Amino acid sequence: MGHAAADSGHNLDCDIAILGGGLAGGLIALAVHRARPDIRLRLIDADSVLGGNHIWSFFEGDVDAAGMALIEPLITHRWDNYEVRFPAHSRTLQMAYHSIRSDQFDSVLRETLPGDAIQTGVRVASASDDHVVLEDGREIAANAVIDCRGAGDLDTLDSGWQKFVGLELELTAPHSLSRPIIMDATVDQIDGYRFVYSLPFGPQRIFVEDTYYSDEPELDAETIEQRVLDYAKAQGWDVASIVHREKGVLPVVCNGAFGEYWRSTGAVPKAGVRAGLFHPVTGYSLPEAVRSALFIADHADLPGEPLHGRLFARAAQGWRDASFYRMLDAMMFYGADTANRYKILERFYRLKPALIARFYAGRSRATDKLRILSGKPPIPIRRGMGAILKNQRRKSGRK
Ligand SMILES: Cc1cc2nc3c(=O)[nH]c(=O)nc-3n(C[C@H](O)[C@H](O)[C@H](O)COP(=O)(O)OP(=O)(O)OC[C@H]3O[C@@H](n4cnc5c(N)ncnc54)[C@H](O)[C@@H]3O)c2cc1C
Repeated sequence: MGHAAADSGHNLDCDIAILGGGLAGGLIALAVHRARPDIRLRLIDADSVLGGNHIWSFFEGDVDAAGMALIEPLITHRWDNYEVRFPAHSRTLQMAYHSIRSDQFDSVLRETLPGDAIQTGVRVASASDDHVVLEDGREIAANAVIDCRGAGDLDTLDSGWQKFVGLELELTAPHSLSRPIIMDATVDQIDGYRFVYSLPFGPQRIFVEDTYYSDEPELDAETIEQRVLDYAKAQGWDVASIVHREKGVLPVVCNGAFGEYWRSTGAVPKAGVRAGLFHPVTGYSLPEAVRSALFIADHADLPGEPLHGRLFARAAQGWRDASFYRMLDAMMFYGADTANRYKILERFYRLKPALIARFYAGRSRATDKLRILSGKPPIPIRRGMGAILKNQRRKSGRK
């Protein structure tokens, strides 16, 4: 390993050091521990809790049986189907939807992993593939380091933005919603493609999130929070209290240099959004985080350097496979008038449920791609392609 730990008291040397106990890091720890309890893990997070303050959701079709077995104990809510609403049509789709809350994520990890594996309130200063320096000066030698500390340099990517503010509301009386509304795009179209997402957690408990596919990353949380409350009022939901808040700004990647993005955080094995492992259209990273965790558990003995090579090759392949989705993002952001962006989704949601499921899972077939692009698209396709090429030229001129 070649590095002595300059330990002040507690030696943190280990087989695998996972930096960042968010979604990706936590799932890796869980998967490695399940498969190989003999492996000495350290899961290190700057925050006092694992997983931050999130509700992560996913479609059942996004995760295979092995993945479901891994995350089953983390799931806090499940529904058999979901709904979408657009000005021209509404629809219920028969696909189960699940949510994981970060507080449950934190407690399952603490119950499952050995006590000394979890190091919270500890900030990492720097890392290589077998060595970590903490901000308090301590050092860790490891057979492999996996960096899961969130996004890399997003300036290496060309993106629009998915931004949102969500409020979990306790109501004074039951709502009548029996399933999630994944997109309610019947709302006023402001700042790009806007929709409201609602998850009924209990008879009087509902999570309502106002989301924008916007050109700009700035988030006016106060204004959007008020729009969430206005939406609730318009649905006839009388709010007793706000019990939880969350917000986010996620890149919706249209184009970019994957190698540059990867190198922006060094030649260290990595996972999660830091490894570019998120769906280009939805920004969802949970399905890929589950797959990576299982992959890493299968390669838990690899030293840092070869593990880095394997993870880079896998992520780069995933990036190439996702080019179709980035093209759709580019068509939305550069081809469609902001007020008409919703029509792309309105039309998409008329397609077959199996095609929609494969799209969310990032596994669209060639025939699905043709189907998505065929017919009469809501934006002229040549204009969309022209906008993409123009943007690519602008981007390459910038470098
Ligand atoms: C509010 C919100 C809701 C989302 N909802 C969904 C969803 O429903 N479904 C879905 O699939 N995706 C969702 N996403 C997108 C994506 O899945 C999440 O952002 C996901 O948490 C990314 O996982 P990650 O492990 O890569 O990063 P994170 O979960 O952000 O984890 C990074 C961790 O690294 C830690 N860290 C950072 N710097 C340091 C340091 N120097 N030292 C030590 N620790 C450090 C942070 O404290 C954090 O815990 C959501 C994103 C947000 C912001």
